Amino acid sequence: MNKICITAIAAAISLFVTAAPAQAQAVQPISAKPLDLSIHMHFRDKYVWNEDWPVAKELTRLTNIKLVNTASKVATNSREQYNLLMASGKLPDIIGGDGLKDEFIRRGMEGALQPLNKLIDQHAPNFKAFLKENPKIAKAITAPDGNIYFFPYVPDGTVSRGWWVRQDWLDKLGLKAPQNVDELYTVLKAFRDRDPNGNGKKDEIPWFNASPNEVYRLVLLWGARSSGSNTTMDFLERDGKVVHPFAEERFKNAIKNVGKWYAEGLIDKEIFTRKSRAREQLFSADQGGMTHDWFASTSTYNQPSSIPSRVPGFKLVAIAPPADINGKRYEEDARKLVMPDGWAMSFSNKHPVETVKLFDFYYSPVGRRLSNFGVEGQQYTMKDGKPVFTEAILTNGKPVNSQLWDIGAQIPLGFHMDYAYEAQWTFPSGLAGRDLYIKEGYNVPQFPGVNMTADERAVYDRYWPDLETYMSEMAQNWVLGTKDVDKTWGDYQAHLKRNGLPEVLAVMQKAYDRQYGK
Ligand code: CA
Repeated sequence: MNKICITAIAAAISLFVTAAPAQAQAVQPISAKPLDLSIHMHFRDKYVWNEDWPVAKELTRLTNIKLVNTASKVATNSREQYNLLMASGKLPDIIGGDGLKDEFIRRGMEGALQPLNKLIDQHAPNFKAFLKENPKIAKAITAPDGNIYFFPYVPDGTVSRGWWVRQDWLDKLGLKAPQNVDELYTVLKAFRDRDPNGNGKKDEIPWFNASPNEVYRLVLLWGARSSGSNTTMDFLERDGKVVHPFAEERFKNAIKNVGKWYAEGLIDKEIFTRKSRAREQLFSADQGGMTHDWFASTSTYNQPSSIPSRVPGFKLVAIAPPADINGKRYEEDARKLVMPDGWAMSFSNKHPVETVKLFDFYYSPVGRRLSNFGVEGQQYTMKDGKPVFTEAILTNGKPVNSQLWDIGAQIPLGFHMDYAYEAQWTFPSGLAGRDLYIKEGYNVPQFPGVNMTADERAVYDRYWPDLETYMSEMAQNWVLGTKDVDKTWGDYQAHLKRNGLPEVLAVMQKAYDRQYGK
């Protein structure tokens, strides 16, 4: 996306945030009598719909509809739970969760889910207006048969993750923020060798990531790509052609260099196993030097009550992406136009009108506030007509988003995120990063994804899961050094060719051309 376009979007967003509806609106209950609807919503391998969430209780108070969980509370694989559910054929009224867009479209076209177009037209004025104002989103969620089968989670804002470095470590070593790949190499080596935490031990971990696959973003430094979006290993569009970044020739040299950095101790030895605890752990222990992560949540660690209370002088700053070997600075990770998350209604749902009204409620001003900020008086209060998080939520040192997940807000059902929710707890270092990336237009266009017909889907499903596993395993081997890139690259390419990558790309291209009219 070019700079002008990004700036225009940013301007439009800030305009929208300022002009957002201020006063609370009266809500009519959706159902005259209390109505229970069953829901299977297992998400992020951890959460299920919880009737005790403050947001769930408030939803029932406002609409007279209670959503009753049917998913396993102890299971830890959301997709497996979803697959078991669909295989059982006994579906609850509502099915929701993350990463289900393709499934909603497929199951919808098969008849397991109800088409929503007519219901939206007649009973969902908020969502209808939203789609009219956002034709690209309407296109992105419409199935090849012309139907809409789910209400999506739509992000707000543009940039998401960026590059972060320990400024206090740079200062201590007399270094500046790295401006290109060579300077980055120098800084990481200095972090490794020159004891910036001052304990006399060589215990620093120069580069780490909280999401293991984020380490692949480093291939950007050598002119390759790791994904077409903020979903790891996503496909990519180059000049109207769908390609996979891990299969491109340029990936070879790039991943080789990432492996070299790993072998030299510049990248966390536990990069693939440390996972989401990485920031908390490595910042608290004064060991982590650089990472690539969300502006908002990462800025939280700079709060006085957070890491600086344990690590005096701790200071993280967001920096421009170092220029790659071709002298280009860019950031491939940005918010999606629309997430592959949301909720849908089963064919057996006997209350389609009430259900679609409930879905639409989340797109109304009151529902949008509930899904973004939680419950008034609990998580936020109204100030000058705008929801403002309470001090308790903002200053307890925990990222606000994870606090909200625990009460049923900001979860992957069909809703429209309000960037104001995130801006409130993005501390100055994160806001500075966000503003820099928007101003300089570092973010490249996102791959919008494709919706396939049943035949195309069959080809994709036949090959892609195994291909993805294989590519992921090979890339991991190359980083860890357990396989040599030069010696295995030829076999890797042959394997991809033999096992259906050309077929997968062909059906995706067909879907892409149909959907985006190229
Ligand atoms: Ca040390």
